[in-house]
Amino acid sequence: MKKIKQRGTDIEIYLRSILHKSGFRFGSKNDKIIGKPDIILPKHKTVIFTHGCFWHGHKSCRKGKTRPVKNVEFWNDKILRNKKRDSLVKRQLKRDGWKVVTIWECEIKNPLKLTKKLNNSLTK
Ligand SMILES: [Zn+2]
Repeated sequence: MKKIKQRGTDIEIYLRSILHKSGFRFGSKNDKIIGKPDIILPKHKTVIFTHGCFWHGHKSCRKGKTRPVKNVEFWNDKILRNKKRDSLVKRQLKRDGWKVVTIWECEIKNPLKLTKKLNNSLTK
């Protein structure tokens, strides 16, 4: 398993096409924003992160709970650190007035539900 942090992943590409179809205007990555969110919607003052279920330890799905058989401690530690960083980033962004939406890898399997989630998050 590679240690490289995934960027520009399938989730992100897919998410962009859904947002586009739903008529949302969005910008690409902006290094000035904390945590480098994957998608930025300035009009909605919203940032979106796409998270791989394994790497970010998604609580609600199987993939997020699965660990490789070897080096379990290493992976637990790594994923825990990712999660801690995620929540720190999220807190800081909220403090700066951003709304933060997290889209999980497993959520793209259900486009209807995902579109609904996006619409709910972005129109409120
Ligand atoms: Zn998941």
